[in-house]
Amino acid sequence: MIDREFFLGFIKIHILYHAVKGPIYGADIAAELARHGYTISPGTLYPTLHRLSREGYLESETRVVEGKMRKYYRATGEGKRLLAASRRKIAELVAEVMEGI
Ligand SMILES: [Zn+2]
Repeated sequence: MIDREFFLGFIKIHILYHAVKGPIYGADIAAELARHGYTISPGTLYPTLHRLSREGYLESETRVVEGKMRKYYRATGEGKRLLAASRRKIAELVAEVMEGI
């Protein structure tokens, strides 16, 4: 399905944006994405979080919450720089694709 692959970029930017604002965890970000109309399965979400971590944009920390281990992710300095660059690109893209609307 082409649209899934297509929107994965939007999903990654969303994840990064929220990880810059504060620590996020899987179920939390899945609910936030659902609020924006993106349904993402754990089979897509977790590999995406791991990949962003491996690439140095997110860092993770495991905390125990109500007796359960929960992995929190936050943006690194590199992640913040990537978000800033994405914002500039989004602004330019929006200006063009929304032209005349
Ligand atoms: Zn959001």
